Amino acid sequence: MSTGQLFRAAIRARTSLGEEIRDLVAQGELVPDDLALQALLDALSAGDASSHGAILDGFPRTAVQSRLLDDALAQLDRRVDLAIVIEVPISEAIARLTSRRVCQAAGHTFHLSERPPRVSGHCDIDGSPLERRADDDPDVVRTRMDRQGAELAGVVAHYEDTGRVARVDGRGGADRVAASVVRVIDAR
Ligand code: AMP
Repeated sequence: MSTGQLFRAAIRARTSLGEEIRDLVAQGELVPDDLALQALLDALSAGDASSHGAILDGFPRTAVQSRLLDDALAQLDRRVDLAIVIEVPISEAIARLTSRRVCQAAGHTFHLSERPPRVSGHCDIDGSPLERRADDDPDVVRTRMDRQGAELAGVVAHYEDTGRVARVDGRGGADRVAASVVRVIDAR
């Protein structure tokens, strides 16, 4: 469950949330904590996530969000079991983001050199055109790293304090990293 994906859907659908956050997301700034938490809790209460739990991608992104999430989940008799930190050198992260391409129909993800589509410019899965996310523009990526990277340290500290962190080496191919993630989940 990705808050970034929830936000992009809200922006595309021009909901009131979407209109409120459109510029922040385009500029690589964080969405206010209360809006991010509400979007996540709404999604968590729907469908499979309400009964089977979920893997959260991109939430929490600030120490405040980590505390708000713990409090909100405690009220629902739920909790965060494990925070997985995927560690990648900044230069590698920037290269991954700026060469990422996503399909217009469903956001399926490709990479120009690491995972190129079979037909250039088109999604392997649904054939729709591929595009670069506006916030994967190199200047915006730098803003995201500067503004959001500093906040993330507080998130990791929050889960470290409560013994819920597993670190994964994010270098290497997607399959290897995915296997490492599965290993730390199984170990738990
Ligand atoms: P992502 O798809 O995870 O890269 O997120 C895209 C953008 O959505 C981020 O650059 C932020 O502007 C916004 N965003 C996503 N998740 C959060 C969050 N937990 N808190 C604040 N802003 C967020």
